[in-house]
Amino acid sequence: MSQMPNPWVSALTQFDAAAELLHLDDALRQILRSCSRELTVHFPVRLSNGSTTVFCGYRVQHNVVLGPAKGGIRYHPSVDLDEMRAMAMWMTWKCAVAKIPYGGAKGGVAVDPAKLSPQELENLTRRYATEIALLIGPQQDIPAPDMGTDAHVMAWIMDTYSMHRGYSVTGVVTGKPLSIGGTLGRQEATGRGIVYIAQEAARNGLTKFEGAKVAVQGFGKVGSVAARLLAAEGCRVVGVSDISGGVYNERGLDVEALYRCVQQGARLAEAPGGDRINNEELLVLPVDILVPAAMESQVTGANAPQMRAKMVLEAANGPLTPEADAVLAERGIVVIPDILANAGGLVVSYFEWVQDIQSFFWEEEEINERLRRVMVRAFAEVKSLADERHATLREAATMRGVQRVAEATLVRGIYP
Ligand code: NAD
Repeated sequence: MSQMPNPWVSALTQFDAAAELLHLDDALRQILRSCSRELTVHFPVRLSNGSTTVFCGYRVQHNVVLGPAKGGIRYHPSVDLDEMRAMAMWMTWKCAVAKIPYGGAKGGVAVDPAKLSPQELENLTRRYATEIALLIGPQQDIPAPDMGTDAHVMAWIMDTYSMHRGYSVTGVVTGKPLSIGGTLGRQEATGRGIVYIAQEAARNGLTKFEGAKVAVQGFGKVGSVAARLLAAEGCRVVGVSDISGGVYNERGLDVEALYRCVQQGARLAEAPGGDRINNEELLVLPVDILVPAAMESQVTGANAPQMRAKMVLEAANGPLTPEADAVLAERGIVVIPDILANAGGLVVSYFEWVQDIQSFFWEEEEINERLRRVMVRAFAEVKSLADERHATLREAATMRGVQRVAEATLVRGIYP
């Protein structure tokens, strides 16, 4: 692939298609097409060798009509303003599709966290949290983990924000450790949501589930859990990959053994149990379900014609470009879009925030069951709209999200 497609162009293209199908008027299109707040920060961090480096970070709120902004924080070299805008817009529609009373946001720092020591990572996080503190807060904007960040990073953000306030503000981030107001079930939530959606897709005749051959790209917080839970529920996971490459076994991989290897620091390109493959090969494996769980723009107009999956379940945000969507629709390959499929993390983040505000914590079974109900209802609504409008699931999901935010915008009116 030469240059990575711009995800903001993808997000706008998807929005325009939905706005057209909804016959949205021009004013609403202008409002919903723009990000309402975009903060860029440049800040110095002192490194362990005594030198200082200036990093660039962002926090973008696309829309806050439905409630406080919500969205992850990404530490990755690809982070730029357009990537943040795209992710923030997708979060707005995702919250609306799941009927969670939040708006959409995203933040991040252009950095490779693997190149920083734990102390440098903490310094960078605390300074970045301070820089974006004018936007975040439990009633304003609530970050969560994304690529390159985890519960520990959330703990540092929560602590930094609380130090500036003078008291503990647990609800300022979600995806925190349990000991400081995190919730049971959050770590597995996105992957668990993927399983619920795959099961609903099977119930609706879009795929098989029991014994379905599955390939998963990306073996991080989302991909590893999705692969393990899909295998535990009866799918045959035949291929997995991370940034180093992957492993393929037609008879099925021992996903738990691979997970243990990765926990001990191994890369999947060197993992046992099957043949070595690269990421390009993984994406075109002959499987029932392909789960892209790495990053955006992985399937494009260039490789979509070679794909042999029967269904794509988007665990990553924006893994397919609009050109890829068009090719797959033409070829009859079902795509379950990110804003529906990977909403599980958002939903349980919302449960975490609700528990923090009430200082009253729920049992894990209750959390998983409530998550299941939200995912099943969201799937049913999107599927029935797609059937009614002869639209793809992406078009239907985006229409659902856009329509809910548009309605709320009209009811609230334009200030002043
Ligand atoms: P992570 O950092 O925990 O893991 C990312 C994984 O993808 C790693 O295994 C990494 O090696 C691999 N990877 C990175 N670049 C790659 C490439 N070019 N090719 C192949 N593999 C690559 O991140 P995560 O939290 O699992 O997030 C993955 C995706 O899921 C992102 O698109 C993110 O926005 C989305 N997402 C995350 C959550 C969440 O709760 N963490 C929720 C919804 C959506």
